[in-house]
Amino acid sequence: MAIDQEIEEEAFKWREAERKAAMAGETTEEHLARHLGQPTSPSPDKHPDLEDKACKVDPEEDKTPRAVVLHSGGIDSTTCLFLAVRDFGNRNVVALSIHYGQRHSKELEHAQEICNSIGVEHHIVEGPVLPMSMLTNPDVPVPSASYEELGPGVSPTYVPYRNGNLLSLVAAIAQAQSMSAIYFGAHAEDAHNWAYPDCTPEFIGAQANAIYIGTYHQVRLVTPLEWLTKADIVTLGTGLGVPWKLTWSCYKGEKVHCGTCPTCLARHDGFVKANITDPTVYHNTPR
Ligand SMILES: [Zn+2]
Repeated sequence: MAIDQEIEEEAFKWREAERKAAMAGETTEEHLARHLGQPTSPSPDKHPDLEDKACKVDPEEDKTPRAVVLHSGGIDSTTCLFLAVRDFGNRNVVALSIHYGQRHSKELEHAQEICNSIGVEHHIVEGPVLPMSMLTNPDVPVPSASYEELGPGVSPTYVPYRNGNLLSLVAAIAQAQSMSAIYFGAHAEDAHNWAYPDCTPEFIGAQANAIYIGTYHQVRLVTPLEWLTKADIVTLGTGLGVPWKLTWSCYKGEKVHCGTCPTCLARHDGFVKANITDPTVYHNTPR
């Protein structure tokens, strides 16, 4: 067997094992226990005082572990939010939605509503102003096509280095607030064909290392959807009781989901493939 083929088969087995563990409801603690030794790049030597320096909080302060969720109000980040609540409890989870110049604020309103429904503290944070792209420029038309039809390579909905920027901001907040985990909902279909390079396992591994090391080993990046498809996420989220009706995916900020943009089509397709009724109201019924 060629070495390349052998490596690919091993990688496939590993991805499948990860996917199965995620779908079986593995907790963050269990996940981290299976991945002892992560992050994979060499860590700096730990200075004996490091723990004290990392921990700038009042010693009297409550040390209950807390998590922050990067929450956009869509299917993926809402499923992440429910996983964080399962792992940490709703009082120990904070959801952050970041305003980076999106063309509409619909998703931020939905994020607030979802957090209200499960008693999670929610904040909208003013983020960096990112270079113009389809998601931030209302003059650029939204394509009526699925991601598959858009073909391989950079997605027209890619915002330059968006996730790197947002995760850096969230990491700073998490460290300052003595939180131990950041939940981030990138999934396998975002990474497929390098449509969004800042959702790939390569990016996640590098970012997880940067956050962990850059916060004095305090903050972990948790990506429970990394190996899952949209249909897997719909199945997982349904099991967790995610109120799909409150989630918002559409790139257009109209009254209801348009049903024709790439993310509406991916949303509907996820429900169809998961064999779960899609409760979304669409302006045009997705193909
Ligand atoms: Zn849409």
